[in-house]
Amino acid sequence: MKVITSVQDMQAICRRHYRSGVSIGFVPTMGYLHEGHLSLMKEARVANDIVVVSVFVNPLQFGPNEDFESYPRDAKGDEALAEEAGVDYLFYPTTENMYPKPLNNSLKALSRTGVLCGRSRPGHFDGVVTVLAKLFNIVSPDRVYMGLKDAQQVAVVQGLVDDYNIPTEIVPVPTVREADGLAKSSRNVYLNDAERHLAPRLHEALVKSSLLVKDGQNNPQVIVESILDFISDLPGSIDYVEVLSYPELEPIEALTGQVIIALAYRFSKARLIDNIIIDAGGIANV
Ligand code: AMP
Repeated sequence: MKVITSVQDMQAICRRHYRSGVSIGFVPTMGYLHEGHLSLMKEARVANDIVVVSVFVNPLQFGPNEDFESYPRDAKGDEALAEEAGVDYLFYPTTENMYPKPLNNSLKALSRTGVLCGRSRPGHFDGVVTVLAKLFNIVSPDRVYMGLKDAQQVAVVQGLVDDYNIPTEIVPVPTVREADGLAKSSRNVYLNDAERHLAPRLHEALVKSSLLVKDGQNNPQVIVESILDFISDLPGSIDYVEVLSYPELEPIEALTGQVIIALAYRFSKARLIDNIIIDAGGIANV
């Protein structure tokens, strides 16, 4: 595995591979890699000749009071994990190299953003589509692997690819969880012991709501209430609990077609998100 820190080098290498006709699988991340990231890398490894993983904590997608400065970083650990996953190139650009001067043009995520994290993190998805447009042009991937833990991000980025005819396929990958159900996340390190003990209740609430659906409940409001009720005694605060169509992310009157049940919860230092996606065929991403 080669570690590349220069945007120009990474682009030159990928262009060479692209011209020689090999397929490129790409996993964009913010690092502090864990088994969730690993499953994306493994899927990429199976389906592509070359696998590129980027690690870049993108300042553009953090709000002024968010955790950009304190976001966990571990370059050595990331390198070991990526190497173990059979990655060919670990791309570690600096902020100065990614954004050498103010942008002349901006990308704005216009739809699918007035709900869920788009509502509670204004500007977040503008930062996401901006950095991914850059990374897609640097890496020229045939396939991009993205986790359904961030299901809204997958939907928004699919919109970017569709709008701008970006010649890549977005491959959604199911959420990887701890044994107790907590979705793996780089931000789980922010949890104190008591919070870590309670955090699996978020996933439990989603599973319970999916059982309600299985039993025939199709009123989104009842589902939301059941989740709010189940997590009401946790020590933090609820950011949102929403039931929407997926991937359109529109409000629904009744559960039909593919639906996302999603929540965000603030513990003392960690804001955690989780979701399940349900369709007529059953439950995906539990
Ligand atoms: P991040 O480093 O948090 O920006 O995540 C990079 C990619 O890994 C995104 O596509 C995430 O959705 C994905 N990811 C993060 N956590 C998980 C998880 N627990 N299971 C599957 N994918 C994940």
